[in-house]
Amino acid sequence: MKRNEMKIEFDSISDNEAFARVTVAAFMAQMNPSMEEVADVKTAVSEAVTNAIIHGYEGKVHKVTITGVIEDGFLCLEVADQGVGIKDVKKAMEPLYTSRPELERSGMGFLFMEAFMDEVQVSSKPGEGTVVAMKKKIGQHGE
Ligand code: ATP
Ligand code: MG
Repeated sequence: MKRNEMKIEFDSISDNEAFARVTVAAFMAQMNPSMEEVADVKTAVSEAVTNAIIHGYEGKVHKVTITGVIEDGFLCLEVADQGVGIKDVKKAMEPLYTSRPELERSGMGFLFMEAFMDEVQVSSKPGEGTVVAMKKKIGQHGE
């Protein structure tokens, strides 16, 4: 399959969570994914975008970008914000860790991303923002 790349940018409002996951699902359609693969990727995108909106920008409206690359049967996604960033990425990624229990967050987001994608890498700097890079092999089911 030919390499293909896309980039979208949208406001950090919760209505755009659905926009983001549907757009990524449409982009990956050319990879002949299974229903399960599409559902997995949509869940991971939702979690990353929700985090950018709630934690990264703390509810203020700025831009979230998603870059998607299809290459060698892999879907590679980067969900980026220029928000507050994460001081301790390792701790943030621990199962059930949340900095916002008062918002009834359960600390499951990164766990879902890791469960549903093959690889998840988080780069973040306090005051600069966060990039969540995720990768998944797609279309490995039979014809
Ligand atoms: P849940 O996803 O279950 O609603 P949560 O968002 O708190 O809860 P995770 O998605 O696992 O849980 O994220 C863990 C923590 O990492 C968050 O509580 C937050 O402190 C931090 N975090 C995650 N993404 C970002 C981001 N884009 N910017 C700043 N902090 C983030
Ligand atoms: Mg979350």
